[in-house]
Amino acid sequence: MYTLVGRRYWVFDMDGTLTVPQHDFSSFKAQHGLPAELDVLAGIETLPDSMQGRVHRAVDAWERELAAGARAMPDAVALLQGLRSRGVTLGILTRNTAAGAEVTLRAAGLSAYFPDPACVLGRTCAEPKPSPDGIQRLLRRWGARPEQAVMVGDWLFDAQAGRAAGVATLLVARHGPVPKAWHPFADRVVERLDEVLGEL
Ligand SMILES: [Mg+2]
Repeated sequence: MYTLVGRRYWVFDMDGTLTVPQHDFSSFKAQHGLPAELDVLAGIETLPDSMQGRVHRAVDAWERELAAGARAMPDAVALLQGLRSRGVTLGILTRNTAAGAEVTLRAAGLSAYFPDPACVLGRTCAEPKPSPDGIQRLLRRWGARPEQAVMVGDWLFDAQAGRAAGVATLLVARHGPVPKAWHPFADRVVERLDEVLGEL
């Protein structure tokens, strides 16, 4: 039986989990000729080599623009505060770039929760989610075991990465109800992240 009690290492997805979701992936994909059914990074892989660089640069520019205007989700701030006050170690695993994550966290007023840049992993720091690689790297850095850790996110990939790494998985509903197909990968599905504060 899964429990959050005693888990001292928490890994967070950033976009849409800690910050207000603002990526409109559908219109970006349509604008750049990417397949609607694939995520952006996987979609770029399907393009001819000669076009991939241009679209990668467009993604980077788009992320920089969104990062500068990032805002924190209030329930995420409440959870981060609660975890920090309990001495929990915090990290980020994002499909954004690490540099973009830094700008986003600063703009959203969240940098203080993630003071160690080595604990903010972007898409070039580890295999992107749903691979468990990034979580495993953070656990190794912390000298932590999967049973001591939690992965928190708003998307299927977050839960899949956490499940594959053997950590507890927490999904927050940020885009309407969490789809039924995602539930098998989540130990816990919440409407608000601060719902779990009473369980720590
Ligand atoms: Mg997300």
